[in-house]
Amino acid sequence: MTEERVGGIIFGGAIATDDFHTRDINSAVGVGLFASRHFNPGEDIYPFDYWSRDLMPMHVTNHSCDANGVFNEAGMLVAVRDIEPGEEITFNYLKTRIPASPWNFKCQCGAANCVGWVDARSESEK
Ligand SMILES: [Zn+2]
Repeated sequence: MTEERVGGIIFGGAIATDDFHTRDINSAVGVGLFASRHFNPGEDIYPFDYWSRDLMPMHVTNHSCDANGVFNEAGMLVAVRDIEPGEEITFNYLKTRIPASPWNFKCQCGAANCVGWVDARSESEK
């Protein structure tokens, strides 16, 4: 596998920066994005970017119904509470839909407010 280092991010299957890194979770979920340092509430994590590279942080950020990140109007994923080193970074796929990834799966986030099923398809995709 070839690796290409761009701005501290290693492309080719894994991401590792001072801010976050990828880690295998399990065979059902696959990989996730985990904080490499502490993020304060309101702090930028990474910008919305799904298309510029084969592997972007967004590609490996899992859904949670009680996500610790949310995309703001400027397209930046921002921490909504303290995120500790080693904690998984998540956003709510139902709040930030991605046309290239019409998600439709049983949610296993375990949050008290879990919707149970995540269907982020548009009406025309159903
Ligand atoms: Zn859930």
